[in-house]
Formats: sequence, structure tokens, C-alpha cells
Amino acid sequence: MKAAVFRSHNRDPTRVVKIEDTEVPKINPHEVLIKVESASYNYDDLWAIWGEPIKVPMPHISGTDIAGTIIEVGENVTSLNKGDRVVSHANLSCRICKMCTSGREYDCEKRMVWGFQTGPLWGGYCQFTHLPEVNVVKIDDNVAFDDAAAISMVGMTSWHMLIGRANIKPGQTVLIMGGTSGVGMVGIQIAKLYNCNIIATAGNKEKMDKCLELGADEVVNHRESEWYKKVRELTKRKGVDVIFEHIGKTMFPQEVSLLKMGGVLVSTGSTTGYDSNIDLRYLFFRGITLMGSTQGTKAELEEVLYWTAKGKLKPLISTILPFNDMVKGHVMMANGEQIGKTITKPQKL
Ligand SMILES: [Zn+2]
Repeated sequence: MKAAVFRSHNRDPTRVVKIEDTEVPKINPHEVLIKVESASYNYDDLWAIWGEPIKVPMPHISGTDIAGTIIEVGENVTSLNKGDRVVSHANLSCRICKMCTSGREYDCEKRMVWGFQTGPLWGGYCQFTHLPEVNVVKIDDNVAFDDAAAISMVGMTSWHMLIGRANIKPGQTVLIMGGTSGVGMVGIQIAKLYNCNIIATAGNKEKMDKCLELGADEVVNHRESEWYKKVRELTKRKGVDVIFEHIGKTMFPQEVSLLKMGGVLVSTGSTTGYDSNIDLRYLFFRGITLMGSTQGTKAELEEVLYWTAKGKLKPLISTILPFNDMVKGHVMMANGEQIGKTITKPQKL
């Protein structure tokens, strides 16, 4: 089969990621073999190629979000059949420890992200891959493979942030930072599903229009130095209930100043840098909560796919790349060029 393999780390993906012929994997009794129809890009692909912040097993196949068809089932598999249309749930957790059994699989000490920390040669950018039964979720016939691959990781992450962690309620004002990013685009739609008032931010006119199309009530250009003052004006100077954050250093202090009394900021990343500072008076005087969030649960992924099948959540797919050109997707992501998600189709060379 064809697979996108790299054998060493490099800042330039085009120097190391090559399409190679590799063996179709053999499955364990608790696993299924999947013909991969669609695979979507995530930032952890770049971390793996760069070797930062962690080294990954070599030779390496990246890819944490795939959708396809089951073509073989292991003898111990009971809930899945050949021909089932499925999507990957990339959280490999033990399912035995206290964290896992109390519904916090994302806090499992043995957790590994499939396609990022796994290997050698075990990820999604290939024509056939294998996963444990528990790490596969069936998708409805009316959900396209491309949509399922594009929404699974970002959808689960956003659902966990807004519903699992921040517990949004109808009528609340939610500020979605970076509304056309992978997580942002689903964040807007989830907040809409919950009847929240949504203020989104984006970095240019095209992206701002896209936020409104996705369901934001208002949109602000976060590249303007006084962007946060505009947000405050939009709330009639009351501030916002919940902030959906993944930008990090450059905007974190201004975001914190926008929370109303008892407001919540939920963060799942910091693409512009880690070492931020905040005015601590906001923390105690306004009684705000700063909350971290990483990935989500399989049940949350199933929730996202349910609403995707209902047509209430839809990923924004900007680029579909043939597999031979798949490395272009890594370059586009590194350059921050794309709006929404990029996918590649391993069966289409
Ligand atoms: Zn565990």
C-alpha cells in the first residue's frame, strides 16, 4: 500500500515526508482494518515532523483523523462489522484506570494520540490502517467521509471545551477566538446549537465573512490593536460569559479583561506563544475561571457526529489534496494559509 512516511525530523516537511510502498498492516484480535478514504490535517502532524516538543517513533506515519470503511475485523471484535463506515477516535487510553473509568479518558496517564505518538508506521496517512475496536466510531450513511475526517478531532475538542468544560447555556454571550480555525469553525456552530450570542474574531475580511456565514452574530478583526474594545462595545460594556481560546500569548491579557463577573475562559492551545501574563485583579475581583481543556471523550465525538448527521454541524473544508501531493497540506498549515480544514484522500493518488 501507499503511505506518507518520514524517517527523520525536519522543519521543512517537503524534505522528509515521502509517499512510500509499505506492507498492509496485520491486525490484532481486538482491532479492525480500515480502508482509509479521507484523512484530515492537524497541528500535531507538524510537531511530529519537526520533532518538537517531543520526538516520535521512526519511521513515522502521521495522521490522527481518518474516515473509511472496515474491511477486516479481529476475532475479539463484537460491535463492528466488515463494510461499516467509520471514523477514528485518536485518543488511545487504557480504559481501566481511575481517570478513564470516571469519564476522563483525556487525563489517562497512559494516553497516547494515535498518529502522533504511535509507531513505527502507525497513523492515518496511508491506504489501510488499523485501530482498536474501542477507538472507532460508526458514521451515518449521510455523513460524507471527508466531512467525518475533517470534523472529528476539532469537533470533539470544541465540544469538550464548550459543553464538557465551560458548560455553556442558552442566552450566554460566547467569544470565539479565531473563528475560522479548525476548532473555531465548530466552536461557532456548537454555540449556535446552544442558542448563545456569538461574537467571533478573525484576522481578515474573508475570514470575518466566513464567521458570519457559520453562524456568528458579530465578528471583530483581532489584528486591529483595539479589537477588544470593539468586543466590549458589542456587549454594551458588560463583557462576555465564556471565551473559547487557543491563540495564546498575544491576546490572552485582553481576553481576560473581557470576562464579566464569574465568566469562564476555556483554553485548548496557544499558537502565538506560551509565556503570557494577566492582570490578576480580574481573577479574584471578578471571580473568573481560567480553564484548560485537551481533546475530549469518545462519547463527545459521538455527539459531534450525531449533530453532523443532523446537518447542524458541518466542517469547513478548504482544500482536498491528492495523496501524492499530501505534503502540501503540511506546508499550508505551517504557513497558516488555509481557512478551515485540509484533507487528503489516500485512495486517490
Ligand atoms: Zn486510563
